[in-house]
Amino acid sequence: MLKDSIQRFLFQKLDIRGQWVHLDMSYQEILGIHPYPEAVARLLGEFLAASALLGSTLKFQGRLVLQVRSSGEVSLLMAEVTHDRQLRGIARMADVVLSQEFNTLLKEATLVVSVEPKDGERYQSLVPLSGANLAECLVQYFDQSEQLQTFIKLTSSDDSVAGILLQQLPKQLALDESERESQWQHAMMLAKTLKQEELLILSSEKLLQGLFADDAIKLLEAESVVFKCSCNSERTANALMMVGPTELESMFEETPEIEMACEFCHRKYCFTRESLGETLRKDKLNH
Ligand SMILES: [Zn+2]
Repeated sequence: MLKDSIQRFLFQKLDIRGQWVHLDMSYQEILGIHPYPEAVARLLGEFLAASALLGSTLKFQGRLVLQVRSSGEVSLLMAEVTHDRQLRGIARMADVVLSQEFNTLLKEATLVVSVEPKDGERYQSLVPLSGANLAECLVQYFDQSEQLQTFIKLTSSDDSVAGILLQQLPKQLALDESERESQWQHAMMLAKTLKQEELLILSSEKLLQGLFADDAIKLLEAESVVFKCSCNSERTANALMMVGPTELESMFEETPEIEMACEFCHRKYCFTRESLGETLRKDKLNH
């Protein structure tokens, strides 16, 4: 079995780089917490793989979040990865999910890609989910944000997910525009022959050797990916404060202890009036 990992690689003679991701355990752990219908689980799997691919190039401490809100059967999908490869994700959906199709599950949706450094300003890009699948929408995202040609393929089964991303680098080795373009087109032609099941079961090494037999590819060290929720009592306390002071007061009148469960991992947090105040003070001191 392949381990949950992300691996970056470089074409040594071309201005192209790539990332490969495979998730088993982390995906299954997330599905273990939330028993989603199959179509939703697979869609979430693709979002998880995509967040790992996009997050693998973060150059700072922080996180990358992919979020979609839609008027379809899946009202919200969210996948998040931190700089140290910790993943989490959720989906909110209708009571009954009948559709299998990307565009009906996520109808009239917009994908929000947020890059959130721990210290510093976060920035967001919005992309309409107009493609046939998530990979197509992400290609559009790169087109608009980095203006670099990108190839993405994502696939998911009941128990694993995988993805690959190839991206043109700024001019470095091939300075001639037409040579550069033909190198990219050639790599694309080969990449498009990759089958879903090959992506799911092959190691990064076998996959790349099989696909790009004539190209020298340098694999960087594989990095482990794990499911780990980033919730804590400070964040939960802040989320609780969002209900507003009046509502909060009436909640405490009903019960001396309010319980909040993390939506991602179902961990429970309990607050009394005193402990809530203390947690918020502590959070302020830390920022
Ligand atoms: Zn949590």
